[in-house]
Amino acid sequence: MPGILVALGGNALQRAGGSGSWAEARLQMRGAVGVLAEIAADGVELALTHGNGPQVGVLLRQNELGAREVPARPMDVLGAETQGQVGYLIQTELTPALRLRGVDRTVLTVVSRTEVAADDPAFQHPTKPVGRYYTEEEARVLRKQTGWAMQYDGARGGWRRVVPSPRPVRWLEGPAVRHLMQAGLGAGWVPVVSGGGGIPVVLRPDGGYEGVEAVIDKDLAASLVARELGLDTLAVVTDVPGAAVAFGKPGERWLGEVSVDELARYQARGEFASGSMGPKVEAGLDFLSNGGQRFLITDIPSLARAVRGEAGTRVTAPG
Ligand code: ADP
Ligand code: MG
Repeated sequence: MPGILVALGGNALQRAGGSGSWAEARLQMRGAVGVLAEIAADGVELALTHGNGPQVGVLLRQNELGAREVPARPMDVLGAETQGQVGYLIQTELTPALRLRGVDRTVLTVVSRTEVAADDPAFQHPTKPVGRYYTEEEARVLRKQTGWAMQYDGARGGWRRVVPSPRPVRWLEGPAVRHLMQAGLGAGWVPVVSGGGGIPVVLRPDGGYEGVEAVIDKDLAASLVARELGLDTLAVVTDVPGAAVAFGKPGERWLGEVSVDELARYQARGEFASGSMGPKVEAGLDFLSNGGQRFLITDIPSLARAVRGEAGTRVTAPG
């Protein structure tokens, strides 16, 4: 169906260098929802997903500081908590923005689980940094006490815990949300789903699912969500106005309308950093080769124009 999945990056949710307060998060979100409401006011079906890195960082720190009184929760539970808090924040701020534009849709958050393969090779090679920076001594103690994998970040001069980042295989709540959206076509729902890439779970022998200590890339999960909902457009919203070649180097060039082949060529020659722009481009290529029609990379200020084809990095499926 014609419609957009907007994947909001951490920077759309939390300003770098801010205090990290809830009041600040509300203000930041208030600045982001106007353009989303405008898209909905144009009659476009809309679904949202979001990152959760900073929010998980806060909960990990609360865990750490409170562990002597309150047992720490595992990461899958923290993932569920961030889906709740960010979803609630979007519901709180987007609803009045919709009303202001005469749009009668309900913003609805769904706690979402993403199935991953228990034998995904990522479980042997943790790569995704989570939580705060530690000194070398702290890292040594933590590794011994908790068994965490710790990795040195040369750029910031500190150690961080790293967890596996397995590939998303299936969004368990997808069929239900798809039915809901189809039933409400035109005037129904704005689902907020798969926050933080979804809670990573693996299938158990008894047919249930069990959370695992991992983090799923929210952009790869976004491609899965957009396909599952049958939406034709995936818009990845981040803190830069698009993807660039020679990013941060002499001759830097921001990409506008670009073909799938051209984008894949740039990806193959390493123009997009792994862990930031790389997974966004990978998600886009995945989406477009699996039935998706249109892929956008943009920021909040340019989103409306990107949807109109006037800004951002824009890719259309061939044929
Ligand atoms: P988000 O939280 O929105 O997912 P990320 O930090 O993961 O954001 O990815 C966005 C970042 O990717 C940008 O801030 C930019 O520094 C970085 N980046 C790496 N390579 C590129 C590139 N080729 N073009 C544009 N941005 C890039
Ligand atoms: Mg990211």
